Amino acid sequence: MSYDPDNIFAKILKGEIPCHKIYEDENSFAFMDVMPQGEGHALVIPKLPSENLLTADADSLSELIKVVQKVAQAALEAFQADGVLVQQFNNPAAGQTVFHTHFHVVPRFEGVALQPHNGDMADGELLASNAAKYRALLET
Ligand code: AMP
Repeated sequence: MSYDPDNIFAKILKGEIPCHKIYEDENSFAFMDVMPQGEGHALVIPKLPSENLLTADADSLSELIKVVQKVAQAALEAFQADGVLVQQFNNPAAGQTVFHTHFHVVPRFEGVALQPHNGDMADGELLASNAAKYRALLET
């Protein structure tokens, strides 16, 4: 598999399609998942191109995991969650559908089931308001 520079997350990074951004630094970028598996589902991606964890640059991953931790901590606080699921899929057989490395960060609540992966589109206003909750905690 080779990296497609026009995949949907590459287009988000280039500003060619919109997203509900929650965090950005030199190496990493984070935004709301439009088909959330739960309230507050966010995605954390490296700016450096790679298809997935298997082929990503190790130094870039080291920086990225720090951002995954920050976003997971913010998820817990922003949504008053009981836990946070961090998920990451590699290759179609493992469920990967977008081929730019990414970590899913999903707030979890006792007794609330996880919604399907790549399920229903969320309401844009809800995504915007959830992104603002993250930004309030992540902006320095
Ligand atoms: P995966 O299946 O692990 O590759 O995850 C891809 C994720 O990207 C899924 O959870 C989708 O809901 C999400 N997704 C697809 N297109 C967009 C988009 N334009 N903006 C935000 N999230 C997206």
